[in-house]
Amino acid sequence: MRRKEIIMRKSLTSLLIVTFVFASVATTALAQQKPPARGIVNITGQLYRAQNDNHYTVFLVTPEGIIMSDPINRDFSRWLKAEFATRFKQPVRYVLYTHSDWDHASGGVVFADTAEFVGHVNMRARLAAQPGTPPLPADAAKMDANRNGVIERSEAAGAVAQRFDLFDQNRDGLLTANELIRGSVNDVYPPGTTYRDRHTVTLGGKRVMMAHLGTAHTDDGSVIYFPDERTAFSADVMQIKRLPQNITPTVGAYIDALRTILALDFDHAATGHALMGTKKDAAQSLQYLEELSTGVAAGIGAGRSLADIQKTLTLDAYKGFERWDTHRTVHIAQVYELLKGTSRAGATPTN
Ligand SMILES: [Zn+2]
Repeated sequence: MRRKEIIMRKSLTSLLIVTFVFASVATTALAQQKPPARGIVNITGQLYRAQNDNHYTVFLVTPEGIIMSDPINRDFSRWLKAEFATRFKQPVRYVLYTHSDWDHASGGVVFADTAEFVGHVNMRARLAAQPGTPPLPADAAKMDANRNGVIERSEAAGAVAQRFDLFDQNRDGLLTANELIRGSVNDVYPPGTTYRDRHTVTLGGKRVMMAHLGTAHTDDGSVIYFPDERTAFSADVMQIKRLPQNITPTVGAYIDALRTILALDFDHAATGHALMGTKKDAAQSLQYLEELSTGVAAGIGAGRSLADIQKTLTLDAYKGFERWDTHRTVHIAQVYELLKGTSRAGATPTN
């Protein structure tokens, strides 16, 4: 009897501990699942910027319907569609993609009942099955515990585990190198209309122009230009008081893309992340890349080491920019490796 009581007490204690641990886990999970920060702010006229946490899109309301840019994701798009219905009483007629990356381009299916989707012609190629028989990317090769050249669901870790179904193009429960290289784009609604250099859509007396941004960040990037509203929208390429993530594939590609954007006549620089700004702010991003590339080239010309260039090329004019303290030296290394011919291909494309 006594023993039984002790056992019972022990079980009760374990139960309490388990309950406590479970409660903390549940609280943490709840905190992580807090609803995304969403909102709509007016840029000018009938042009608005909409937010989903750290991602932003823009939309223009015309008397004949709405022209919007990136749908971001399905949940956000559902929310946005409801806002359109109650606030503007207009359907979406066009979805104009900035590029194919999953975190900006997903969820468009929500608007497929009324909209025409437009993207750069390379976007269609990026969403298609990838050709060839490449080896697993380095990060994935580390997950491949049984070394069979594919990633089973049980092997997947991190972002690959989280977005497994978005990577798994043929839905066979295995991720091949081709599927990993293609990206987690299964929920990207493909553009029915594509263009090469420039494309203009007109609706309700308004014009919106798209221009290709070359290979900066991805090879299917577009700037979305609203001439009447004097606004340019770009995700990941144009940033305001914020350094880019990786300058891929080359600093020259980024400089060309920013020059394409800055050749447009605009006042409002709308971005896919963080701050909005003016054309002058956007020009500062170009200046940063110019000073970065000329500074590194001068250092190499003078026979200096990477570490030495990283120490002295401080680019102080951009000290107040987001990521200056973390990304400046990385960017110097990227440009240095490019000029030295030692750059490692396949840097992770991010925002
Ligand atoms: Zn991107």
